[in-house]
Amino acid sequence: MIQHFVGGKAWSGASARTGDVFDPATGKVADSVLFASTADVDTVVSSAAQAAKSWKEVSLAKRSAVLFAFREIMNARSAELAAVVTAQHGKVLSDAAGEVQRGLEVVEYACGIPTLIRAGFSENVSTGVDSYAIRQPLGVVAVISPFNFPAMVPLWFVPIAIAAGNAVVLKPSEKDPGAAVLLAEWFAEAGLPEGVLNVVHGDKEAVDALLDHPQVKAVSFVGSTPIARYVYERGTANGKRVQALGGAKNHMVVLPDADLDLAADAAVNAGFGSAGERCMAISVVVAVGSVGDALVPLIASRIAKIKTGDGRRGCDMGPLVTGVHRDKVASYVQAGVDAGATAVVDGRDPDVDGEPGGFWLGPTLFDHVTPDMSVYTDEIFGPVLSVVRVSSYDEGLELVNNSPYGNGTAIFTNDGGAARRFQHEVEVGMVGVNVPIPVPMAYYSFGGWKASLFGDTHAHGLEGVHFFTRGKVVTSRWLDPSHGGLNLGFPTQS
Ligand code: NAD
Repeated sequence: MIQHFVGGKAWSGASARTGDVFDPATGKVADSVLFASTADVDTVVSSAAQAAKSWKEVSLAKRSAVLFAFREIMNARSAELAAVVTAQHGKVLSDAAGEVQRGLEVVEYACGIPTLIRAGFSENVSTGVDSYAIRQPLGVVAVISPFNFPAMVPLWFVPIAIAAGNAVVLKPSEKDPGAAVLLAEWFAEAGLPEGVLNVVHGDKEAVDALLDHPQVKAVSFVGSTPIARYVYERGTANGKRVQALGGAKNHMVVLPDADLDLAADAAVNAGFGSAGERCMAISVVVAVGSVGDALVPLIASRIAKIKTGDGRRGCDMGPLVTGVHRDKVASYVQAGVDAGATAVVDGRDPDVDGEPGGFWLGPTLFDHVTPDMSVYTDEIFGPVLSVVRVSSYDEGLELVNNSPYGNGTAIFTNDGGAARRFQHEVEVGMVGVNVPIPVPMAYYSFGGWKASLFGDTHAHGLEGVHFFTRGKVVTSRWLDPSHGGLNLGFPTQS
C-alpha cells in the first residue's frame, strides 16, 4: 500500500478509499494507493501550515544547503527514481532517466535561491528616503500533478516553492504515485524539516479539498484542459493564486526547403517518444506544398524500426499507462479510419517484446487528415501522428493559430527568414526551430498559451520564483536633522 507522506513520515490517514496502481507492461495490479478524504487533507494542510511558519524564518543559506544536499542524493540515486517511473508509468528506462534529469535541472536552479529571490534597492528616492523590494513566501502551496511526468512535473514546482520558504502539499497522479513519495523521502534525508514537503494521494476529493482549504494560498496544477480550467476557476474563486497548465495539440510545420531526414527523425521521436504521452509531443505534422509526398514515406520507414515493448527490456516505446487509456487511444485510430484518413501505419495489433497483458498499442501514422476529424481536433495523448497537408506557409500558420491549444510547436526549415517570421507570428507559448520538443531549460519558464495554461504565470525560471513569493516594497527614512514639518499632500519626490 502506497501511503501519504506527512510530517516527515509515512501516514495512512483515516479514509478507507484506495486505488489500483498498475504495472502497464504486464497489465497487472502492482500496488494500491490510499485516497485521502477531505478530513485527511485538512490534517495534512494543518501540519504544513505549522511547518511553514518556522521554515520561512530559516536563512537562505540553510534553505539552499538543503537543496544542495537533495541534489546530491537525487544525482546519486537517479536510476532508482527512473526505475519507479518506468514500473508505474511504463515509459522506457532511458526516457524515464531523461525526465529525472530535466527535473534535476530545476533542483539545481533552485539551489541559487539567494540570488533568485534578491530584489532591488534604490537609495535616495526622495531626500534621505530609500526604497527596496523584498519577496516573501506565501505559506502553504499545493502542487497537483499528472501521470505522464511523475518525477519531472512535481520537480518543476516543489524545489522552487520550498527554496522560497513555503511548505508544500503535493498531490501526485493516483496512477503513478511512487516517484512523489521517493522525492519526499529524499528531501527528508537531505535535512528538510518535517512538514515542509508533504505528499497526499487521492482523486477529485483530495483536489477539491486543497482548492477549498483556506490555508492553501497557491495551487500549481498540471493536467488535462477541462480539469485545468476547473482547478483554475475553483481555486481563484476561493481567492488563491493559481497556475493551471492544461492539454496540448502540438503542430510541427515542415517547409519544402527543410532537411526532410531531420524532419522525419524529429516527427517520429517527438510523436512516439513516451508513447505520445507527453504534453509537448508532436501530434500533427503540417506538410507544406509537396513535402508530404516525400516526408510520409520517410516517417513510415522509421516507424517500422520502432521496437514496442517492456521499458525494462531496451525497447524504444513502452505501453500506455492504463488499459482504459489504451482503449480510448485505439478508438481514435478507428475514428480516423472511419473519417477517411489514410492509415499509412495502423498501430493496433503490434508486435511486442513484453507480457501479453500489457497495455500495448503500436505507433499509428495517418496521412490526409483534415481539421474536422477527431484525430485532429482532440488531444489523443497516445502514439498517433497525423499529417495534414496544406498548400502554403500562411495556410499552415492559420491552422496552428486556429487551434484552441497553444503549448508547443516547431518549424522545420533552412530559411532563417521563414523561421523568424514563424516565431513572431505563431500563437504558441513554446516554439522550436528545427527542434521538435522545445522544452525550456529550468532557468527559462515553461508554459503554453490559450487552453494550454490558465493563469498568468508559467512554471519554473523567474516566473516560478515570482509565483511562489509575493512582493513587498519598503520606503524608509531614518531620521536626520533635516526631517520634520507637517505636509498633508500626497508624497512625491523632493
Ligand atoms: P488529468 O487532468 O486526468 O489529471 C491531472 C491531475 O488532476 C491528477 O492529479 C488527477 O488526480 C487530478 N484529477 C483528475 N480528475 C480530476 C477531477 N475531476 N477533479 C479534480 N482533479 C482531478 O491529467 P492526466 O491524464 O494525469 O495527464 C495528462 C494530461 O496532462 C494531458 O492532457 C497533458 O497534455 C497534460 N499535461 C500538460 C502539461 C503542460 O505542461 N501543459 C504537462 C504534462 C501533462
